[in-house]
Amino acid sequence: MLLQLVSAVTALALAPAAPPNRPADHSHRAPLAGERIAIDPGHNGANGAHPDQINRTVPIGNGQRKACDTVGTQTASGYTESAYNLSVARKLKRALKAKGAKVRLTRKDDDGVGPCISKRAKIGNRFNADAAVSIHADGGPPSGRGFHVIYSTRIQGLTDDIYRPSRKLARALRRSYARRTGIPPSTYAGSNGLDARSDLGGLRLSDVPKVFIETGNMRNAADARLLQRSRFRKRIAKGIFFGLRHFLHRR
Ligand code: ZN
Repeated sequence: MLLQLVSAVTALALAPAAPPNRPADHSHRAPLAGERIAIDPGHNGANGAHPDQINRTVPIGNGQRKACDTVGTQTASGYTESAYNLSVARKLKRALKAKGAKVRLTRKDDDGVGPCISKRAKIGNRFNADAAVSIHADGGPPSGRGFHVIYSTRIQGLTDDIYRPSRKLARALRRSYARRTGIPPSTYAGSNGLDARSDLGGLRLSDVPKVFIETGNMRNAADARLLQRSRFRKRIAKGIFFGLRHFLHRR
């Protein structure tokens, strides 16, 4: 032990001093370098004022149609889901870019209409995303709280190609989101924080692994209190960030 210590000290003493102003070490890549993430903040701030535009239907595959977009929910004190979704999306984008990922958002402000759900899916597809996540907060029953992650059921010719990786992504997000935020899995939707649905155009039309995350219930007082705090939204973004990172590293 002592001998080891002595030789370590000697080795240290003999080591040449680091040259001054050594250039930064770029030999190891940023942890998410080369990864492409599409982030879709659900709804948009002017949707409510333009029902004609958002109620027109768009194709969502297999001959079915659905409204272009919807208004979204809000907390009892009037904090809108569309503003919340964008806030979380921006924080998530910052975290991902800091680790070298390439990020594409489906909208950049909260003053517009749409884009339609079909366009939102297309943006992720064109970006050739390694993973796509649509960020929402739910308008559930006031007595129910918690989050759930939605992935598409397997639909022949539509989602059969992305079903498995999307389910994997959903599971990774469920785990890290619960851990990082402490928000419980939904008490009123899905099962254990997961829900498989066949009706969401944004998932049906995706050609890249994609999920929706309902990050909490805006109509529930306990969830709303958390979602309304900017500092807590940072934690929410981190919860999503670590789920994405886990998924991307385990593919
Ligand atoms: Zn929503």
